[in-house]
Amino acid sequence: MRAMAFARHGELDVLELMDLPRPEIGPGEVLVEVKACALNHLDVWVRRGIGTKIPMPHIGGCETAGVIAETGPGVKGLQVGQRVLISPGQSCGRCSWCNESLDSLCPEFIIAGHQSQGGFAEYAKARACDVLPISQAWSFAEWAAIPLTFVTAWNMLHHRAGLRAGDTVLIMGAGSGVGTAGIQVARQAGARVLAVASSDEKLKKAAELGAEVLINYQTTDIARAVREATGGQGADIVFEHVGAAQWGAAMKCLRRNGRLVTCGATTGPKVEIDLRFFFTQQLVVSGAYMGSRSELLRCLELVERREFRPVVDSVYPLEQLRAAQERMEQRAVCGKIVVEP
Ligand SMILES: [Zn+2]
Repeated sequence: MRAMAFARHGELDVLELMDLPRPEIGPGEVLVEVKACALNHLDVWVRRGIGTKIPMPHIGGCETAGVIAETGPGVKGLQVGQRVLISPGQSCGRCSWCNESLDSLCPEFIIAGHQSQGGFAEYAKARACDVLPISQAWSFAEWAAIPLTFVTAWNMLHHRAGLRAGDTVLIMGAGSGVGTAGIQVARQAGARVLAVASSDEKLKKAAELGAEVLINYQTTDIARAVREATGGQGADIVFEHVGAAQWGAAMKCLRRNGRLVTCGATTGPKVEIDLRFFFTQQLVVSGAYMGSRSELLRCLELVERREFRPVVDSVYPLEQLRAAQERMEQRAVCGKIVVEP
């Protein structure tokens, strides 16, 4: 089968179109003919090498949508030809973390396309329990744009930050995949959304998704704009994933007793916290890593009902994965980039 894979770590040039064997499925497994797979910054980190053991040559791609091509012995309730998503987060389903719906803390937790082979290929395989049926409500490219970003945004806001109706939520990097999901999750819960992005074009999209206050950080001081929009109070929740470049500004935007939740470090992992400010204002800083299966199923239900909608920036043929990743790294993106085999 055709796959865009790499046999050694490195920059874009290690990505090559390869002819690799079609995955062989065993009992309880499903072979999916890939129709679309969405990109994540994680793909780039894995390609460069972040110290985790991965299969080589490696096929990236964490968010795969397609149709079932084959089912292994013992698979029940799934049929060849059915439209499905492969769950990006996969865990044991038996340990105490899994039982508490904290799947991403499971010792066996993996992300498809990171520790296993992903969807930048004609076929991908998964355990039957990680194969989730989808409707025709959206195209394959649109479905592929959903799972990782929405489950992460849901976990960040509902679980880690304790989102409540009426909260003021500041979404950093509002034009990104997780940012556009964050806006929708916050709005759906009845929160007021303030959006920060690098261009008016991205902010226009944020407004369409329900953001009320739009802050272009190239031309506006973020903390001042947030104070002005909140009667000097600051935001109840700051939704962060940008990392070092905007951490200081993000912390300054919190109101007393505010909660900052982060799932990323795109611009760098090392940040500073002024402890005096942190404890006197009684702030909370939480980390979030993906989310649970139950949170994913809840998000998919809301996508199905069109309360959440995918935001697709662009679609590339699989062979142009290099160009697609290059576009993502330039951060000129609004929503998700998807490739199709
Ligand atoms: Zn587990």
